[in-house]
Amino acid sequence: MLKLTDNSPASYWAGCAQGALRLSRCEDCQSVQMLGTQHCSTCWSAELAVIEAQLTGTLVADSVVHRAPRAELESLTPYRIGVVKLDAGPYLQIWVGDPRDDVDHGRGAPAAVTISFVSVNGCTYPVAVHRPPS
Ligand SMILES: [Zn+2]
Repeated sequence: MLKLTDNSPASYWAGCAQGALRLSRCEDCQSVQMLGTQHCSTCWSAELAVIEAQLTGTLVADSVVHRAPRAELESLTPYRIGVVKLDAGPYLQIWVGDPRDDVDHGRGAPAAVTISFVSVNGCTYPVAVHRPPS
């Protein structure tokens, strides 16, 4: 995996703009977590490396948003959000499918997903797209 050094949330968003999901991995216990922490949430080590995670996971929860939390998202409603358990370890709150289309991305049982990226209002966000069974 590519090792980077910037553990800031800005690095997370810069990674999204480049089609990468940057996470933090503990060099001592190999636990993987979201960027922005100074210590490992498992062993409290400060030896953290930034990695680019595999873009796969399992959608474990989802819901339809009919009332946007911010004005810039209002034109996208209704859209679907969910929680993905990444194969790399952490849980990620994420859009399910491109919020700009009206394709039914399914609901219900946990589903394998691939993480893709979509640019909305000048920012690139990760989105979960259902993955056909292999
Ligand atoms: Zn650790």
